[in-house]
Amino acid sequence: MQEIKTDLVIIGAGPGGLSAALYARRSGLDFEIVEEKMAGGQIINTDSIENYPGLKENITGYELAQNLVEHCKRFDIRVWDYFPINSIEKTNETEKGKSYGFRCQGDEKLIRANAVIIATGASPDRLNVEGEDEFIGRGISFCGTCDGVLYRDKEVAVVGGGDTAIEEAIFLAKFAKKVFIIHRRNELRAAEILKQRAFGNKKIEFLWCCVIEKFLGRDKLEKILLRNKNEDKTHEMKIDGVFEYVGWKPNSGPVKDLVDLDERGFIITNFKMETSMPGIFAIGDVRNTPLRQVVTAVADGAVAAIYADRFLYSLEHQQSNV
Ligand code: NAP
Repeated sequence: MQEIKTDLVIIGAGPGGLSAALYARRSGLDFEIVEEKMAGGQIINTDSIENYPGLKENITGYELAQNLVEHCKRFDIRVWDYFPINSIEKTNETEKGKSYGFRCQGDEKLIRANAVIIATGASPDRLNVEGEDEFIGRGISFCGTCDGVLYRDKEVAVVGGGDTAIEEAIFLAKFAKKVFIIHRRNELRAAEILKQRAFGNKKIEFLWCCVIEKFLGRDKLEKILLRNKNEDKTHEMKIDGVFEYVGWKPNSGPVKDLVDLDERGFIITNFKMETSMPGIFAIGDVRNTPLRQVVTAVADGAVAAIYADRFLYSLEHQQSNV
């Protein structure tokens, strides 16, 4: 088991984690940044970024992620550790007069640090209806940007009425013959600009007040059982693919027993990004933020790095005064 000792560990290399790394570097902190999958976070699956300030033209989420990574490299920050942190434990370990307050345990590596920034984001929620498990990857997808091209000239459905669902429906309409948006209410929660684009797209049709009750097929998805809530009637509908965008669940597992969470499992923080456990900070989509955007995640990252620096400074001074 490889062991790394550092002052600060940033867990997650999405926009929030990478921004925290840049600010931690500027503060001269000794830190590590670890990522389970791929640097860039959820935005790598976003077709077009339009609302991040300072962009001369729209770019893909993948390009923005690459820009963030390149920016970090210019400051000698490398996300070279691709492994998940499975658990975080509070300890009072001391070595050569220096204490390490947290043990962050990965599969093959242990990181000991005095401050932790959790930037692990959120994962797509699911409908949890019959047949869903069977057809994930065989007609059910959570990523239009990844799988949309497979549905050229086919009929697909998007579930949800938020920004993600509407953005992805517009993207899918570039390939598909028809895109049905299945929404459980008769009103979208998506931003006005996205709504207007979807309403104006001839390939997009809305199925209001409808929910999927069952996914049906043999080797792959062929049909859905749809309930119209107003009429309280069900009918089977042929479909080639279904894309689910019904919200997110926080990746707060490694700290669920250490810090306060809200009723949905998001980490509760104050305006300094401090959690209920001194030394643990949380940023971006994993915290109980009122807005989940790239711009808010990067702002959270900057704030957390600054307050982590202050926390480490006061800890060091307490230790040297003992
Ligand atoms: P969201 O805003 O939470 O929307 C989830 C949608 O799924 C809602 O319309 C909800 O219906 C529906 N839903 C939830 N559970 C369902 C179920 N069991 N069955 C059927 N429908 C269900 O999620 P999101 O669209 O992924 O957005 C997440 C955050 O990211 C938001 O803050 C959003 O603004 C942000 N975002 C921003 C952009 C952008 O600015 N370009 C792009 C993507 C995401 P109800 O409306 O009835 O609750």
